[in-house]
Amino acid sequence: MEFFSTRNAEHKVSASQAIAQGLSEEGGLFVPAEFPAVDLAAACAMEYPALAAYILKQFLTDYKPEFLEQAAAAAYGEAFGGKAGHLEQVNENTWSLELWHGPTCAFKDYALQLMPKLLVEAKKNLGRTEHTLILVATSGDTGKAALDGYKDIPGVSIVVFYPNNGTSEIQRLQMATQEGGNVAVYAVQGNFDDAQTGVKRAFADKQLAAELAEKNVVLSSANSINWGRLVPQIVYYFAAYGQLVRSGKVNMGEKMDFCVPTGNFGDILAGYYAKRMGLPVGTLVCASNRNNVLTDFFATGTYNARRDFYRTTSPSMDILVSSNLERLLYHLGGSDAKVAEWMGSLNREGSYTVDEATMAAIRADFAYGCCNDDEQVAAEIKSIYEKDGYLCDTHTAVAFKVAREYCADHDSDAPMVVLSTASPFKFPRDVLAALGSQAPAGDFEAMEGLEQLTGVQAPVSLAGLRGKAERFTAVIEKDGIADVARNACEG
Ligand SMILES: *Cc1c(COP(=O)(O)O)cnc(C)c1O
Repeated sequence: MEFFSTRNAEHKVSASQAIAQGLSEEGGLFVPAEFPAVDLAAACAMEYPALAAYILKQFLTDYKPEFLEQAAAAAYGEAFGGKAGHLEQVNENTWSLELWHGPTCAFKDYALQLMPKLLVEAKKNLGRTEHTLILVATSGDTGKAALDGYKDIPGVSIVVFYPNNGTSEIQRLQMATQEGGNVAVYAVQGNFDDAQTGVKRAFADKQLAAELAEKNVVLSSANSINWGRLVPQIVYYFAAYGQLVRSGKVNMGEKMDFCVPTGNFGDILAGYYAKRMGLPVGTLVCASNRNNVLTDFFATGTYNARRDFYRTTSPSMDILVSSNLERLLYHLGGSDAKVAEWMGSLNREGSYTVDEATMAAIRADFAYGCCNDDEQVAAEIKSIYEKDGYLCDTHTAVAFKVAREYCADHDSDAPMVVLSTASPFKFPRDVLAALGSQAPAGDFEAMEGLEQLTGVQAPVSLAGLRGKAERFTAVIEKDGIADVARNACEG
């Protein structure tokens, strides 16, 4: 399987190159040259690790099949407590695909427990011996998931930058207490986009690259623009379908819908890839929070990132530039030249407008909606808990609300699967307050309060953060990111 850039389809690379490189030279994202067809009946019968290996083998054709089998078994076994891709019925026609049973309690573990193994193997496949320095900008969940995935991986160091005061206290502590000899974490003055812009600048900094090259260090990214982040996420869409088929809720070949709480557009894009590979998906519903740049895009065809940025109770969706949308625009817009033009316009003017034919193609596969404020999110958490006895986090609640409205508007009886992207115990104060309890000032007290109120146990990896020593407390300016990178691999 070959991959090429969304902005230059001429330049083809192998899967190993796409994963080792991350972004293409002209700033495009790597996409697969084709969508391999999946044997649906076989896929539906597989356990999660075998299914993951099966999907990976379709795309990563220059990796040894035995390597992919071992990597998938190691990533999705014990680390997920036997609950990889677990589907839970919430009410008659709605399911929750619980993607937070991994080590850091967010869905990003699916990609980031596997991606470090894919990167090390890619370097081996390519005969590359440099040290890889991974820079990550995070709004909270990616950072911890990446730290956990890359800790003590040979030949790699990782530095994570998160917006100061932009994460929950639990998320901050997850990162500040990270173990491992090759990790570092910094808070950045500013919001997520400031941190991301700072990291992007460091990647574009030729002087920095030259200085690092002298030390045989090459920069790389773990953000969801890397193909290695995307491909593992295709797997759980198939896993969800397999569970519905095995439990008799759908017959093989019947469609189901998905609703995905969306930020950078990576998670939902993986669902689109699953559909193109033959999974019977009706509609992919894109759910946004108050930062509803995607909602407006789907409605109007204009993507306008020049707008107010809001901090919400679903911080991992507080994003104004949804990078992975570029891949969808390539697949449905049909030309690298068009994508290059749109992205040029986004860089220069902060917006672009897509032609009608492309928008029509997008609307055939996608629906959309948003929560206008945090009150709507809280009301949804409360209503699902009281009506259905199901406890969900703030991000998942955004999707439940949008899914509910979609189902009401479309009178569809296809099963609706909502992707549940984080454990409610990652955001315990907001969730407890949503349920109507006076939330205590501290996250750990709120965690206990939530346990007492609901009888649901907090994940050990979160409860265990209490009292753990903080290793990383530095706060830097956003233009200090390059200097951090410069010094990251000293001693
Ligand atoms: C990252 C994240 C999202 C958004 O996923 P994208 O792939 O960026 O669209 C949603 N919810 C949670 C909890 C996340 O961590």
